[in-house]
Amino acid sequence: MSDCLFCKIMAGDIPSAKVYEDDKVYAFRDINPQAPVHVLIVPRKHMANILECDAETAAALTDAIRVIAHQEGVAESGFRVLSNCGRDGAQSVNHLHIHLLGGTQLPEKMA
Ligand code: AMP
Repeated sequence: MSDCLFCKIMAGDIPSAKVYEDDKVYAFRDINPQAPVHVLIVPRKHMANILECDAETAAALTDAIRVIAHQEGVAESGFRVLSNCGRDGAQSVNHLHIHLLGGTQLPEKMA
């Protein structure tokens, strides 16, 4: 999608701090990190949110989460993954992305 921020990042039109990539997924550091480790994991195929996610993409995202958690050194200590969806979920970029947060003790409460 030409007007999508994350599509532009994956096309290389906007710079990003790459953490991981494969043929289905691209991951980079959040520009406004909420934890010492804050990575956005994004399917290359444009889809608005988790409701549009197909099984193949879900598997690719899960595989990427596992690799990135080890790479970032949080697999043992633990981390959080979340995906904001729609207005009430406070989604600000309408291209599915998974936040991977860790590197510190995260708050119990999510909202
Ligand atoms: P959400 O609010 O769940 O849609 O998450 C969007 C995330 O994208 C936010 O955490 C932003 O900080 C992050 N973000 C926005 N623009 C950029 C960018 N150019 N590079 C990296 N992260 C970004």
